Amino acid sequence: MSHAPAIPIVPVIEAPSTAEILARAPLETPAEHAALVAKIKRLLKQQDAVIVAHYYVHEDIQRLAEETGGYVSDSLDMARFGHEHRARTLVVAGVRFMGETAKILNPEKRVLMAARDAECSLDLACPAEQFIPFCDAYPERTVVVYSNTSAAVKARADWVVTSSIAVKLVKYLKDRGEKILWAPDRHLGNYIQQATGADMLIWPGACVVHEAFKGIALGALKARHPGAAVLVHPESPASVIALADVVGSTTQLIQAARDLPNKEFIVATDTGIFYKMRQAAPGKLFMEAPTAGRGATCESCAHCPWMAMNNLTALAQALETGANEIQVDEAVRVKALRATQRMLDFADGIDARAAGQGRPVSGFAKGERRQLGD
Ligand code: SF4
Repeated sequence: MSHAPAIPIVPVIEAPSTAEILARAPLETPAEHAALVAKIKRLLKQQDAVIVAHYYVHEDIQRLAEETGGYVSDSLDMARFGHEHRARTLVVAGVRFMGETAKILNPEKRVLMAARDAECSLDLACPAEQFIPFCDAYPERTVVVYSNTSAAVKARADWVVTSSIAVKLVKYLKDRGEKILWAPDRHLGNYIQQATGADMLIWPGACVVHEAFKGIALGALKARHPGAAVLVHPESPASVIALADVVGSTTQLIQAARDLPNKEFIVATDTGIFYKMRQAAPGKLFMEAPTAGRGATCESCAHCPWMAMNNLTALAQALETGANEIQVDEAVRVKALRATQRMLDFADGIDARAAGQGRPVSGFAKGERRQLGD
């Protein structure tokens, strides 16, 4: 009789304080700020570089990416953009797994991180040394990992997914009769399991930002703003998801802010997203979902400490010094590419089908309660 290991006890993640990270960021006068922006623009041109930024980084970086032909999006689209753009250097403003994904897809390009120490609690909670033997103990299961994982973990996976396609992919695998081993986010895993009914063994990691949202306090805020739509990222706890009008990936939540008729929104994801939401839906009001309330242990207060490490000064230094370059062992990269490329191909298939049906890609009808992946 085989003795499969119990669900591993994941490392305790000591996340830095977002407030402390932001307090350490250099303060610039308007003149210094303008000079810094001009310097980065010059360096980008000189080095044939482009900024690929996540929605959660400071709006100064998002704006600069837009102004310089770069890109701001979720991790799936960041990966696609970096792959398709002709620039020889990709400057990733986000966290380490995003830089690694860029390198997995673009071994010939130089990939620089704007912030050297930008980690992710999900990635940290799923070390390859623990994850690989765990997978080996369940050879009958298809290993599906969230993009928020290291290259070494992706290399052990059959599939990589982002939150924008996770439900669709797991449903597809379930329909083929496959059982899933999912890692590392337990809330997203539970959400997918409920949405699909798939047989899923779930790794117990969590995002330090989304896990801090509080269902009871959210209910109270919603009661004070009955006209507000509640937009929730599925890395949030089930009690928060239960109150959502829309559950979706970052891009899907921005689309909801634009397309729903509501004038007010309560948003349960990182507040860095407000820059793009205000751009997509000018004149609408966005409130952050509460991280305070009974049992609150708000360390991040709805803004990721590692995303907060990305600032203009750090970005300029990365370009000037060439520091923070991402390296991925070639044998690991080739294995990780297999699972990552399957994700991109699967997402392309979804987009092609949506386009064939005359629907906006990943779009949805007004006023309809939406679930991620539908
Ligand atoms: S917000 Fe959460 S999931 Fe995103 S990088 Fe930060 S810790 Fe990771």
